Amino acid sequence: MTFANQAVFPITADSNDKDHLTLGGIDVLDLVAEYGSPLYVYDEKTLRGMCRTFIDEFTSRYRNTKVLYASKAFVNPAIARLVTEEGLGMDVVSGGEVAVAVTGGADASNLYFHGNNKTPEELDYSLDEHVGRIVIDSFHELNLLGQKAKDRGVVQDVMLRLSPSVDPHTHVMTTTGILDSKFGFSIETGDAARAIREVLQTPSLDLVGIHFHLGSPIFELEPYAIAVDAILTYLEPFKSDGLNLREFSPGGGFAIGYLRDRLPPDVASYAEVIATTMKTRCSDLGFGEPTLVVEPGRSIVGRAGVALYTVGAIKDIPTVRKYVSLDGGMGDNIRPALYDAAYEALVANRVSAVSTETVTLAGKYCESGDLLAKDIDMPVVESGDLIAMPASGAYSPSMASVYNLNPRPAMVMVNEGKAKVIRRRETFADLMALDVA
Ligand SMILES: *Cc1c(COP(=O)(O)O)cnc(C)c1O
Repeated sequence: MTFANQAVFPITADSNDKDHLTLGGIDVLDLVAEYGSPLYVYDEKTLRGMCRTFIDEFTSRYRNTKVLYASKAFVNPAIARLVTEEGLGMDVVSGGEVAVAVTGGADASNLYFHGNNKTPEELDYSLDEHVGRIVIDSFHELNLLGQKAKDRGVVQDVMLRLSPSVDPHTHVMTTTGILDSKFGFSIETGDAARAIREVLQTPSLDLVGIHFHLGSPIFELEPYAIAVDAILTYLEPFKSDGLNLREFSPGGGFAIGYLRDRLPPDVASYAEVIATTMKTRCSDLGFGEPTLVVEPGRSIVGRAGVALYTVGAIKDIPTVRKYVSLDGGMGDNIRPALYDAAYEALVANRVSAVSTETVTLAGKYCESGDLLAKDIDMPVVESGDLIAMPASGAYSPSMASVYNLNPRPAMVMVNEGKAKVIRRRETFADLMALDVA
């Protein structure tokens, strides 16, 4: 059985003889009966499949590729364990992500620590844990880390994050590689040149390579080619300053399908354009074959996750709008409110129902902007229906809040007819666990 928007659901998504959505071979109504609503479901086959696809598509075109999972898309110990089992390293952006990665079994030497303002405590913790690479983002950090490593008598492997002034044409809130960005050393202003020379003259830091990240999600291939070419070309003269480019990273940002009529290029296409540009330009410029470090986040977990919500109140304002209220919202998925993110939805208990009206799926939070999907075509839904929102695995749970003190949903991982809880539902006691009366 297939349904209209199946391409944005996990690869195991199907429907059963009750016309219910199944994920990993399990009826999602059974999952909600057991684990409650709302519920986040991760499909293990999609997750592992994406890890393997990235490794295969990149290494088959550029042998010396390292794939890192960008943890901020969503990480907990179970996810860290899974990506580690699949052979990925991890991109982390906080002390907390370092702790979760290590708890999940990641080897600290495979961690790349990013961020525009790592705290002194985070840098100390990274040095304590022997984090593999620290990606320096500012002169402040360069000096601080250089001093800390020197005080400990160690040499820390580092990369520099450069900002190439390339616009990947995504949402302004998720664009990072342009001049007016808080991230990275700008090539345009001369900061990049100064930073490269300063690191090369800091004995406690070993400049292993160069990193950039354009933004996310990037539906076009060309920005990668332009930026890889521009930065490699820019770096060539620094060889005479002692730059030995052993690693090169074009970051992440690979898009996923949120809407059936806006599907991204496949991983092979991203790999092709990056690998080809790398090979050609590194050879032209005499850089040998540095390790290519790619950092997919959204594209690893996004499609694997499905959010399940139960319909409650329905408010029809004739000739204006019909609001269908769900039992979750901006607390578990802030993306629509934050960057106008658009989603598909499916009535999970009537998969084959045909769309006949336009409705707005609203959340339960006390904000008028708490809308999960505005003006989408749906079958007529009733209170009690179960709504599945696909492509919910990335940047929804990881940005979740307890606004209005709604406990955050449970998460289960499904595979071959079995479900395991990877995060239990938050309780009222959890909500008060840190508070002192
Ligand atoms: C966020 C981020 C990524 C991952 O981006 P995705 O869109 O999730 O692939 C990779 N690298 C860096 C430095 C990032 O900040």
